[in-house]
Amino acid sequence: MTVTTHNLGYPRIGAKRELKFALEDYWKGQSSLDALEGQGAQLRQRHWQEQNALDFAPVGDFSFYDQVLDLSFTLGNLPQRVRGLEGAALDNYFRVARGRSASDSDCSCVHAGEMTKWFDTNYHYIVPEFAADTQFKLDSSRLLQQLAQARQLGVKAKPVLIGPVTYLWLGKAKDDSDKLALLQGLLPVYVQLLQELAAQGVEWVQIDEPILVTELGSEWRQALLTAYAALSKVHHLKLLLATYFGKLQDNLELACKLPVQGLHIDAVHARDEVGQVIAQLPATSVLSLGVVNGRNIWKTDLNDVLAWLEPVHASLQSRLWIAPSCSLLHVPVDLASEQKLDADIQSWLAFARQKLDEVHTIAGALNHGRASVQAALDANHVAVEARRQSSRVHNPDVKAAVARIDATLGQRASGYAERAAEQAALLQLPLYPTTTIGSFPQTAEIRQARSQLRSGQLDEASYKKLMQAEIAHCVKEQETLGLDVFVHGEAERNDMVEYFGEQLDGYAFSQFGWVQSYGSRCVKPPILFGDISRPRAMTVEWSTYAQSLTDKPMKGMLTGPVTILNWSFVRDDQPRSVSCYQLALAMRAEVLDLEQASIRVIQIDEAALREGLPLRKSQWAEYLRWAVESFRITANGVADETQIHTHMCYSEFNDIIAQIADMDADVITIETSRSDMELLDAFDDFNYPNAIGPGVYDIHSPNIPSQEQMVKLMRKAAERIPAQRLWVNPDCGLKTRGWKEVIPALANMVAAAKTLRGDNAA
Ligand code: GLN
Ligand code: ZN
Repeated sequence: MTVTTHNLGYPRIGAKRELKFALEDYWKGQSSLDALEGQGAQLRQRHWQEQNALDFAPVGDFSFYDQVLDLSFTLGNLPQRVRGLEGAALDNYFRVARGRSASDSDCSCVHAGEMTKWFDTNYHYIVPEFAADTQFKLDSSRLLQQLAQARQLGVKAKPVLIGPVTYLWLGKAKDDSDKLALLQGLLPVYVQLLQELAAQGVEWVQIDEPILVTELGSEWRQALLTAYAALSKVHHLKLLLATYFGKLQDNLELACKLPVQGLHIDAVHARDEVGQVIAQLPATSVLSLGVVNGRNIWKTDLNDVLAWLEPVHASLQSRLWIAPSCSLLHVPVDLASEQKLDADIQSWLAFARQKLDEVHTIAGALNHGRASVQAALDANHVAVEARRQSSRVHNPDVKAAVARIDATLGQRASGYAERAAEQAALLQLPLYPTTTIGSFPQTAEIRQARSQLRSGQLDEASYKKLMQAEIAHCVKEQETLGLDVFVHGEAERNDMVEYFGEQLDGYAFSQFGWVQSYGSRCVKPPILFGDISRPRAMTVEWSTYAQSLTDKPMKGMLTGPVTILNWSFVRDDQPRSVSCYQLALAMRAEVLDLEQASIRVIQIDEAALREGLPLRKSQWAEYLRWAVESFRITANGVADETQIHTHMCYSEFNDIIAQIADMDADVITIETSRSDMELLDAFDDFNYPNAIGPGVYDIHSPNIPSQEQMVKLMRKAAERIPAQRLWVNPDCGLKTRGWKEVIPALANMVAAAKTLRGDNAA
């Protein structure tokens, strides 16, 4: 009996980021709406062609910005502030996404929708806005147009939609009303939409409810029952309920009993639940198994999957569908674009196109016997085995060092109070010391020098000279401003993770491995493929050069192991924790080298620590255990008088503040200015023991904060934290700002610190 193949979603940016460039041209007013729409249609067509071996391809997964925002428009849930504005519908859509559209001459008109992470991925969606009086009204035009295009091209179309309960779950009630109360009004709109699709002769609709892999309260579970009871009333249409990103666990029974015709589960992360699902699923239901990982870039071990899947197929027969585990939005488009990857490493990888080939090969083996796809299976076996045994991947010294890790490694010699006294004696800092977070403006000249170095137009020595001149400039500016603890400015760094990845063994870099982060913004995560080691010091030369130019303490600047891990594609052949410990040991060696070179203050950024939190709260403790331990291993090998800083770029950590305190950094700088020090509420209940620099200068905005504003913010902070433990600093690095803004803003900041010192003298 034949299995059915399908896909849940495809990357829309294009193999060469065509969508990004088309969007940016349009936003700059350099191209027309028609041109943009044309590029969109062309990308959809190409992507469907790339999926044409499947029995069903997704339709409606394409988006000009974000699929959640698309759905808000489909459901007529536009924020009040953009209703009734003139211009094309797509312009209004961009106004919600970005706060402005191509047709707006200035950008002061509306504020952008809030953006947040899509589950535990690095994709950001625009948060739906709700209020008690929110009403929904169907606008199916986008979906129907895409369906018509697909039909015309002969695509076997399966429209995809985010389900009503997940949609409500993703949104935010601006008036603190109960979002679930909106379900009654929302369901008729979904029913109407499904009826329109049925009227088009659509057979299957994929409806995503990924919240089924999270911990759900009884009211959310009840909402799912209510919702699917209503949706199941639509005739002549089958629903495939899709879950992904993890196990169903306590929602397994619920997922199996919702009245739909098929269920998709993430069989990469929840292979061990498949037996239970088969046992509980109605005998007529389709079971779609996501057997190819849609979240990483490794080849699937096809023989291993088949050995497990063949008996499943024998029992389910044609009720079995197969697919990637989730939408392929989270992986790069096409490995074939890569020209410069090391051949070994390239042979171990699969991007979106290659993942669909894997689905196809698995289906071929199930439908016609393994012999029918023997060559593909053999080639896969060779690649998978080569990776498993490669000496590029496995470094016995690194494994031995990780095995030797014990509790003493992450332990400072003395407690904070003693250390603080020694550091004060050595550093001689005033009350309310001022510093910045690391980077200074990355000017066009800096970027040009870097690209010239890459293309060979500039040799190493000349590049180094240019960067040293830039460092000298930063030092001079900081002297003039009168800051207390200096930074070298990070001119030599393209990116805070890539910079270290490029110098560590065990990392590879793609040329076109772009993944959408939000809207037109894409990231190219480095590929952590092997045991991590540090062949040589990575930052010491720059930091010691900078220190040689001043008597003020110069901060050594590093990225922490957890952040490096969370912003990379990581190995699937060992736990994340092991990769993190390896990174920790490499970064620890760098910390010790900096200390050896007389750098007295060392900052280790953990910008992305929070991002790694698992979807289920019950798993947080385990993650935080190894994440905090990794930071401690990196940081805590130094002498008492060496001052360790860390930095985090977000403000909500009330729920993990105890673990952050456990990292035991002497100073932590955090983002707070945008939340008006609200963040510090966490400090009412928790007595944070070490020093803290609540950011007073919002570097995300071009505004120059006044001295008074910053004094006010710091006084608020001083109500909670003793002045002796407060630092004065911006929210984050200054790399995206211009010198013209940075200088007056920092001058105001230094003046604010002086005023605050006056408070305490009085
Ligand atoms: N040290 C980095 C910088 O200043 C920190 C960046 C970040 O936190 N994202 O650029
Ligand atoms: Zn930051």
